[in-house]
Amino acid sequence: MSTPLDAASMQLQNLARTAALLADGALPPPDPVSGVTYASSGRTLVIGRAADAMPLAALLSPQLAVSVLLVADADGAVAGISPPAYGFPVHAGRDVRITGWLGAFKASWQSADALAGNTPAHDGGGAGGTFDLILDLSPTPLLTQHQPPQGYFAPGGAPAAQIDAALQLAHMVGEFEKPKYFHYKERLCAHSRNHITGCSACIDVCSTRAITGAGDRIRVEPHLCMGCGACTTVCPSGALAYAWPDAPHAGRRLKTMLSAFATAGGSEPVILVHSAGRGSMLLREAAHLARSGGHPEIPARLLPLEVHHTASVGMDLWLAAIAYGASGIAVLATDEEAPQYLEALERQMAIAQTILSGLGYGGMHCRLLQVATAQELQAAFQCMPLGESPARAASFHVAADKRNALDFALEHLHRHAPVPQEQVALPVGAPFGAVVVDTAACTLCMSCVGACPESALMDSQNAPQLRFVEKNCVQCGLCEKTCPEQAISLAPRISFAATAKAAIVLNESQPFCCIRCGKPFGTLQMINSMLAKLSEHGAFSGNPDRLKMCGDCRVIDMMTNQAQTRVIELQPPAPQPAP
Ligand code: SF4
Ligand code: SF4
Repeated sequence: MSTPLDAASMQLQNLARTAALLADGALPPPDPVSGVTYASSGRTLVIGRAADAMPLAALLSPQLAVSVLLVADADGAVAGISPPAYGFPVHAGRDVRITGWLGAFKASWQSADALAGNTPAHDGGGAGGTFDLILDLSPTPLLTQHQPPQGYFAPGGAPAAQIDAALQLAHMVGEFEKPKYFHYKERLCAHSRNHITGCSACIDVCSTRAITGAGDRIRVEPHLCMGCGACTTVCPSGALAYAWPDAPHAGRRLKTMLSAFATAGGSEPVILVHSAGRGSMLLREAAHLARSGGHPEIPARLLPLEVHHTASVGMDLWLAAIAYGASGIAVLATDEEAPQYLEALERQMAIAQTILSGLGYGGMHCRLLQVATAQELQAAFQCMPLGESPARAASFHVAADKRNALDFALEHLHRHAPVPQEQVALPVGAPFGAVVVDTAACTLCMSCVGACPESALMDSQNAPQLRFVEKNCVQCGLCEKTCPEQAISLAPRISFAATAKAAIVLNESQPFCCIRCGKPFGTLQMINSMLAKLSEHGAFSGNPDRLKMCGDCRVIDMMTNQAQTRVIELQPPAPQPAP
């Protein structure tokens, strides 16, 4: 039974939430971002069986330049159509392939027997064309990604859904623009070096197949990107950053809301990250249920943060929110989100929670709410996160660079930690950690230094030394995969020690000097390793000491040792006949 004190406290929390929401609403909008344009003149390909495709093509043909591709059986037969004259081209084929996006689709197929009175786009087996729009009525959609490209509709077999898709298509003629949702900084990317793949987190998580590897880098096709931002959440280096809005803007909102809430006397605030589409709708429905009686009110300590897509807000902003005084972060996932986003968010939350618990912050801070209905959301309100926050709220601003933003948040959380630790061990896949070098196996060949994209591993100008700055390491594993001696392993952890920001020596040796000229040219380990591997090689078996010489002296030694010098007699050119 609630007491007058409970009621007063609830009222105070409600007032504090109103203050937080008003402060958020008073913030200026985010900076505009550049746009991505599409141009559609209405060239539409309707793909399917005759019974489905022909009526819809006929319906659309007054508004759009329609072509039909009838899907043939394996033997090339097209069932269910007689060959009257149509007002649009009708092709038949199988093994259909589609790439592209609104205004720039490419379709190709193996041509079946042409229908009477129609000619395939090309002679021979292969046929195809370019289209602005695709209406795919195949029983199984040809494009299977969770979020297909704009301009592609695969409504399935239900007539109502097919009609709805056709009506939407009819309006897709003209120029369209959407924001470019991301920034990519190639120099920070840990995708690959020397044909060895390190990080592919963004490629793996993308639900639109907009991201592909391109040598050492990745490439994001902005026309396919739908702005979910999951790639920026899983990117360990910050090479991919969300732009709509950017992290500083989202950080400003968090700081403003949490500060206004605390100033107005609110306590234990939880940031509820939700999407502008389905997430907002579920919250409105849950509020309506509460107003109509029989359901609890939305907890006043929940501060909603509406974003374009919930997967775009990641660990940098979650930890910043805790540093600003939040008791927790709840991310509202609905049936819109791709399964891989939910897995990625769960993994990132586990890392954030491990850090917070490792520093002695009690309770659970991060929670992914997976709900499909307002009733389920009401139930989820009963188990909101409730974790300890730092004794003093942070004052930093969230930086645009993800690693810097994380540094600020982590430093504040460590400084005010209930149980400060120098190190917290993290799960495999965490974006922080050390590398462990087996000094007996390491020859100081420095292959790992050349492979490290983050300048975490370095050599030294003055001595054969392998040095390491832990703060820079994103645990991409390129050094581990590149090392020819298998001398490196990863140790995921977060270190708050001062040494994490400094270059420490992981392995070192005395320089090995050429036995002929005395010039330093390698290390003792490297020479021993070469002697073990190459002394039986034909080029050195007669004189293994050559392996102890620098490159210049090795050549001189070979040329001066007459017994091993091969002389090729040069022949004078043959006389040319007189003109
Ligand atoms: S470092 Fe970031 S941008 Fe590069 S491959 Fe990994 S996730 Fe993608
Ligand atoms: S030290 Fe190794 S794991 Fe760390 S960033 Fe460099 S290459 Fe990647």
